[in-house]
Amino acid sequence: MKSRTKVVVIGGGIAGCSTLYHLTQEGWSDVVLVERNELTSGTTWHSAAQVTNFGMNQTMVGLKTHSINLYKELSESPEYPINYHHADGGIRLANTEAQMQGYRHFASMARGMGADFEVIDAEECARRHPLISTANLLGGLWDPLDGDIDPAQLCQALAYHARKAGAEVYRNTPVTALTQHKDDTWTVHTEQGGIDCDIVVNACGYRVNEVAAMMGVHHPVASMEHQYFLTEDMPGIAEAGHRMPLLRCPISDYYSRQEKGGLLVGFYEQDCKTWGMDGIDPNFVNALCPDDLDRVMDVLAGAFERMPALEETGIRSIVNGPITYTIDGAPLVGPIPGKRNAFCIIGLRAGLGEGGGHGWLLAQQIVHGEACYDTWCIDPRRFTGHTNVELTSLKAIEDYQNEFRFHFPHEHRPAGRPAKTTPLTPILAAEGAEFTVVNGWERMDYIKPSPEFHPTLSFNFDEAFGIVADDVKNVQENVGLCEVNGFNRFEITGADRHSFLDRMFCGTVTKRDGRVGLGYLLNHHGMVKGEATVANLPASDRGPARVWYGSAAASEYHDMDWLTQHIGEDEDVQIRSLTNEQTILVLAGPKARDVLSGCARGDWSKEAFPWLSVRECFIGFAPATVMGVSFSGELAYEIHIPNASLYAAYLALRESGEAHGLKLFGARAVESMRMEKGFLHWKADILTEFDPYETSLDRFVKIDKGDFIGKGALLKRREEGLRKKLVTLKVDATHAPAHGGASLMQGSKVVGTVTSGDWGHRVGMNLAYAFVEPQLAGEGNRMQLDMYGDMVEVEVIAPSPYDPSYELMRG
Ligand SMILES: Cc1cc2nc3c(=O)[nH]c(=O)nc-3n(C[C@H](O)[C@H](O)[C@H](O)COP(=O)(O)OP(=O)(O)OC[C@H]3O[C@@H](n4cnc5c(N)ncnc54)[C@H](O)[C@@H]3O)c2cc1C
Repeated sequence: MKSRTKVVVIGGGIAGCSTLYHLTQEGWSDVVLVERNELTSGTTWHSAAQVTNFGMNQTMVGLKTHSINLYKELSESPEYPINYHHADGGIRLANTEAQMQGYRHFASMARGMGADFEVIDAEECARRHPLISTANLLGGLWDPLDGDIDPAQLCQALAYHARKAGAEVYRNTPVTALTQHKDDTWTVHTEQGGIDCDIVVNACGYRVNEVAAMMGVHHPVASMEHQYFLTEDMPGIAEAGHRMPLLRCPISDYYSRQEKGGLLVGFYEQDCKTWGMDGIDPNFVNALCPDDLDRVMDVLAGAFERMPALEETGIRSIVNGPITYTIDGAPLVGPIPGKRNAFCIIGLRAGLGEGGGHGWLLAQQIVHGEACYDTWCIDPRRFTGHTNVELTSLKAIEDYQNEFRFHFPHEHRPAGRPAKTTPLTPILAAEGAEFTVVNGWERMDYIKPSPEFHPTLSFNFDEAFGIVADDVKNVQENVGLCEVNGFNRFEITGADRHSFLDRMFCGTVTKRDGRVGLGYLLNHHGMVKGEATVANLPASDRGPARVWYGSAAASEYHDMDWLTQHIGEDEDVQIRSLTNEQTILVLAGPKARDVLSGCARGDWSKEAFPWLSVRECFIGFAPATVMGVSFSGELAYEIHIPNASLYAAYLALRESGEAHGLKLFGARAVESMRMEKGFLHWKADILTEFDPYETSLDRFVKIDKGDFIGKGALLKRREEGLRKKLVTLKVDATHAPAHGGASLMQGSKVVGTVTSGDWGHRVGMNLAYAFVEPQLAGEGNRMQLDMYGDMVEVEVIAPSPYDPSYELMRG
């Protein structure tokens, strides 16, 4: 066994084998994999091993496409062939129009990734899968490339090719401890001795938290028992003359694929069961949980109705094994929050289908610092702090119970809520608030007209449209108050804080006391990594001179890692998170200044407190820090208040606002208004796949200033020219917004992808942002938006159609 290597991957299931293989593909051959038993002896060996192309976003579709292409290539390799039923096809069924609309959206989204899904009617479903009945069926989504693979052969083949490229695999080598050294390198202690390395990867499946504990962390991953059975041969399959496609049924929560002359049928029962909550038997190796068909009786009846032939078919064997889930159903693939040189590829619930792609994206992150797609949807840092074992298990159960029921826009399921609240949450709830969830925070969407008000789940504009219109009108004409909780806030102190930030941002961000600026952070490839406001506070009785760094609600761990990793050894910079301590109340509208003046001492005139100012004060008697910034495009103030004083400040603002028509508004109105102003959302419109010029952030780049992170790469990119350009679009439809991921077409060619969309109530336009081919980025260019299968005309318009000169927000 080597005593030193570059990377140690811990775990020899599909996750670990794929990572090892792809590290060698990226050019790193001095890498090893350690496995406590034999390869695939965790979950992988007994997987149903279906390989599908469907994903909720473009990154997921792209990584699954990579799996499919890789598996096909491996299976055709004469050196180590694998049994892979490539392209049997697969159908996701639907019995509601809303589901069908969702499938049409996913087909539009997948087209942009080169995946050709097809939405078919019930008869066509039955024609392609002759075993199903069309009762209570509207149709389905056809995925032509679905298939299944031999999981053990796949892992052995990946390991074989990795070994051939120089990697080493140590079986029967349990990791017993991990030590990180001062220079951030590691020693991986195993029963066979220690291995020093630069980087460790946790790929330990359901034992993820045993190894996580060795480095002092806990991952939000919980295991569920999951069961399928294999049937005897079925005459209907032989008669069909072709292999049966895969089937996913959200109506009866089961799936099936062909296995020899019969079917493999798996279940997602309501009466489901977590597994290993209180620790896992060390001897649970190559093992299964006891059969428990009674548990799936609720869904079995539905499966029989959909596939009557099942009722006459005997069961050959049953498999019941642990499968991992996370808080939001997507795995955790990337850097481990708060750790250096440590990565994970865990929480895979569809690891055979996705594992090829996840290992690919992880290896790219390890070797190059970033992957070819924006990987936020699988980034381990997307949850912050609240994700303990109890909450993760509740969300895992809920997700399992809804396995094939995708989330609709604005759908937030009830398990594990409320997870993060402020003192205002119950107050707003009593006012009738409908809440959305942002990284666990309950954030007000709007005030419901009655407790029974539940808008229809669909991709169309819903019944809250008129409420949002009224909220926007009141902000435009009078003044509104909105709680923005969970917004990420760091306090940066130390003599070198400004020079440090200057290096982190690609533009010049103000250093003047009392002033606020907006800046963008690039990665080492010159792509946009982050967006933050910087507010310079002079020394006061509340603290020393400091910068308040503000960024998106879920970015706390991401930004903290990025910033702290770049503080030089001799730099005097300290960063402290205030995210859980401070909450923002946004006061927006032409009468905002009157309301603020009515409850906070001092001169708030335009001259004394112009746009982009920051000042400490009291709202009533509640300590506050006020910034003159606006996301709505109206005159607005962000009022930052310690949570202990939040209710006091809220009462003072409401009292002062009474004479000025102050009303509450929520996240939905904010979303509509920011679209009218051309303001972007991190990880919707701001992605690591694009540089700041492509993201239309040219005015925030000062290429001639001193060095900054990503400058060299950006200069090179600038010479290469734009690949895409972010534009604002007017959408020629009134019934629905454009949704992120939807494809823009010219004829049969995909020419762009939507990132955000909403109705602009002040301009009376259906608006969208999209990355389009540069030659189409000019105003007046027209394209077609594939909106659920309908081709809708869109036109490129100038950004910020509301108040294009930005006069209103300057007050
Ligand atoms: C019944 C069932 C059906 C499924 N069907 C499908 C399907 O159709 N399609 C699909 O895509 N997915 C399916 N899955 C899910 C899929 O099988 C898993 O997502 C995948 O196998 C997980 O792989 P992994 O590498 O993350 O974990 P594992 O396969 O569990 O591998 C983890 C490895 O880490 C090793 N390890 C743990 N601790 C240590 C240590 N301390 N030192 C060294 N090594 C260690 C373990 O021994 C193990 O080999 C199914 C799962 C189940 C249970």
